[in-house]
Amino acid sequence: MTIFKFFLTNFLLLFFLMQQASSIELNIYSNRSASLLEPFTKEYEKEFSIKFNILHAPKGLAQRLKSEGKNSPADVILTVDISRLSELSDMGLLQNINSSIIDKNVPTNLRDKNKKWISLSTRARVIGVSKERIKPNQIQRIEDLANPKYKGKICTRAGSHSYNRALLSSIVAHKGEKKAEEWAKGLVANFARKPKGNDRAQAKGIFSGECDIILINTYYFALMKFNEKHPEQKEWANSTQLIFFNQQDIGQHINVSGAGIAKFSKNKEEATKFIEWLTKPKAQKIYADINYEYPVNSAVKLEGNIMEWGNFIADKLPISELAKHSKTSQMIIDRVGW
Ligand code: FE
Repeated sequence: MTIFKFFLTNFLLLFFLMQQASSIELNIYSNRSASLLEPFTKEYEKEFSIKFNILHAPKGLAQRLKSEGKNSPADVILTVDISRLSELSDMGLLQNINSSIIDKNVPTNLRDKNKKWISLSTRARVIGVSKERIKPNQIQRIEDLANPKYKGKICTRAGSHSYNRALLSSIVAHKGEKKAEEWAKGLVANFARKPKGNDRAQAKGIFSGECDIILINTYYFALMKFNEKHPEQKEWANSTQLIFFNQQDIGQHINVSGAGIAKFSKNKEEATKFIEWLTKPKAQKIYADINYEYPVNSAVKLEGNIMEWGNFIADKLPISELAKHSKTSQMIIDRVGW
């Protein structure tokens, strides 16, 4: 081989390898909206040569993965709510995530002990009260919502929505099924109206005077408070005071958004690298800045708009407990007619 040929061959090989490196593709299956994912994928694409293909499926992600089986192109699954993450794991649709970086960045109570999923952000479901009609500090505990003195004052969305079911599961986990049912019964007895609408509709109820006390995820509060497209929602937020509850003992109930690696992903290494990156400070800050969710990585300092309604002590319950009690909670919800 002449020296020329030698260099040419190596040059071509190098060129080929570079082409390969820049044509890595990761397929994300997600039930999160594209607008929420884009800030992450854009930032990641800037740092690494990678192309994302995103399949957005608001519903039926697990069923889809199951029916695709071994032929599924899915690499990374991104979803919200612990019951969805554990459903994917229970159905055997995830493979293990092995990473010391993730183990360091994500607290133990927010990771699956079998390594099938991890949390990427937490979301607080808090009490909202009318600034006008409920005194500051009058309500500090979730238990207060079952007090008969609030008869005709409470509004919530349907009990069987996963956010309410997870909240009730946290009460089952801490106090047992019987106490949780008593609480749910008391809550329902205090309703101002039949459960209807989403979280924002409850804040609207405070603004209109129909409701004094509601349950709401803080990011919906933020999405109303800073809503330039629908400024009327600012008024709904401004009539509502948020209360992080049970701060003296068990802490504020939280739910999570999280990730897993699809069972049949052929890009395990790249998938792990991307999920690791999502737990690092730069990405963790995006969760707070874009969707007003809370970082799981404690190294990230909260600042900016998300601090306007204060910070809180979170419930340290292993997040998997919420999924464990989900069925029990749903039965309670049916029995009490929430
Ligand atoms: Fe939501």
